[in-house]
Amino acid sequence: MALPAENTMRTAISKRDATYDGRFYYGVVTTGVFCRPSCAARPALPENLRFFASTADALAAGFRPCKRCKPVNPSADLDRLIAVARYIDAHADETLTLAMLADNAGLSVSRLQRTFKAAFGISPKAYQDAQRVRRFKQALKKGDDVTEATYSAGFGSSSRVYGRAANNMGMTPSAYRKGGAGETISYAYRRSALGPLLMAATDKGVCFVQFGDSKAALTEQLANEFPQAVIEKSRAEKSPELDAWLAQLDAHLGEGQPRPDLPIDLRGTAFQMQVWRYLLSVPEGSVVSYSEVASGIGKPKAVRAAASACAANRVGVLIPCHRVLRGDGGIGGYRWGVERKRTLLDNERSRSARSI
Ligand SMILES: [Zn+2]
Repeated sequence: MALPAENTMRTAISKRDATYDGRFYYGVVTTGVFCRPSCAARPALPENLRFFASTADALAAGFRPCKRCKPVNPSADLDRLIAVARYIDAHADETLTLAMLADNAGLSVSRLQRTFKAAFGISPKAYQDAQRVRRFKQALKKGDDVTEATYSAGFGSSSRVYGRAANNMGMTPSAYRKGGAGETISYAYRRSALGPLLMAATDKGVCFVQFGDSKAALTEQLANEFPQAVIEKSRAEKSPELDAWLAQLDAHLGEGQPRPDLPIDLRGTAFQMQVWRYLLSVPEGSVVSYSEVASGIGKPKAVRAAASACAANRVGVLIPCHRVLRGDGGIGGYRWGVERKRTLLDNERSRSARSI
């Protein structure tokens, strides 16, 4: 829900205009309280006002409801519900269950679910998601890279944040910071042995190799990752190398030909680039764990961030993030599906076994 124009909101507050009640809420930073536009409270200094589209947003920003104008539906449980919200704020990066929250608050699960939603308009789960997205945006604005922002916001993995943040921000996290402004990216598509495959390149090298459900979904994915770039379909006469590269890659996937050694236009944060370069050094037929990747780049404690950088790889197969397994040897995740990861690893194992 979009907020009215700021001037309109300021006028509504100064006139205590009840026709705006429910259309927005305002918080006063000096008191930590949020109100309806019609609240009879003493006017606050204009610079101390913050505006919110919903009570949940105001709550998530740390404000509590005004006792005078009662911007949330009065409930006997209100104090407990606010305490639940604050608990979620403090633990937004963890997996929280309703049972756990209800237990802390001394309420039954069904009562918590019902009264929280009645008071703030969303479920505790949706509130936690909103809080994460909020932090994620803040972290990005502060200049954190996407990987750090992902973790400080409590999203478990980049692939999850890609989906969710894209829904909430209208663009992907990397696009939020970069976006390929002023560049031309050509792409080529084919149905490979492992499904629909799209490769794209700048004039510096391959910047995108991804599997997807369809050509349309893949070109959309590409446009989402480079929203500022001019994206054009490769015409063989214009970039014959791209079509040839894609054919080589497909021959690698389907016929066991060697993996083509192509120029790669790596673009990411300094940390991501370190991880991806390390991955390029992992030979075919061998695998490493996420903690080995972290140690390998000299940051043994950054295991989660290393995993996240692997998950953020935009150049599949050529940057072999599929060669990274969980510490216990489990297959771990893969941005393009665990089945594809397994197939890639099986193919590489049998190829390297043959070559011995
Ligand atoms: Zn008030």
